[in-house]
Amino acid sequence: MMNLSEETARKWLHERGVEVKDLAELVMFLQQKYHPNLTLDTCVEHVEKVLSKREVQNAILTGIQLDRLAEKKMLEEPLQSILEVDEGLYGVDEILAFSIVNVYGSIGFTNYGYIDKLKPGILEKLNDKSSGLCHTFLDDIVGAIAAAASSRLAHSAAGES
Ligand code: MG
Repeated sequence: MMNLSEETARKWLHERGVEVKDLAELVMFLQQKYHPNLTLDTCVEHVEKVLSKREVQNAILTGIQLDRLAEKKMLEEPLQSILEVDEGLYGVDEILAFSIVNVYGSIGFTNYGYIDKLKPGILEKLNDKSSGLCHTFLDDIVGAIAAAASSRLAHSAAGES
């Protein structure tokens, strides 16, 4: 059975325009060169496992909540402006995302850095500042989920559980 945190985290991702398929496509982007027979279904499977982790749900809930409060201009200064303009030196969005990357060990960090730099697929959409939406936390969370799922895939391909 799904608990309230998982249910809400999944619902909020959907409401913010992020589907499991988008996350799975990022995993495919990161891993297909190492696993030529990789299918999207397998990527979905690993993303689902990542989303079932409590640390991951907590990061999703916290990040999306702050993004939404920033959109509604409900934060106090200087935080309101920092989140609204997605200030590069803020860094707490990345720190929160690291709690997701960490779940499957340090190999996730390389994947996270790589995907954060190239911003493929859904990440390009989330970084479109003309949308009027604030995804300061969500873009890092999405990259981190893909990186963690990639690590999980790599571990399972290596015969670990
Ligand atoms: Mg960010």
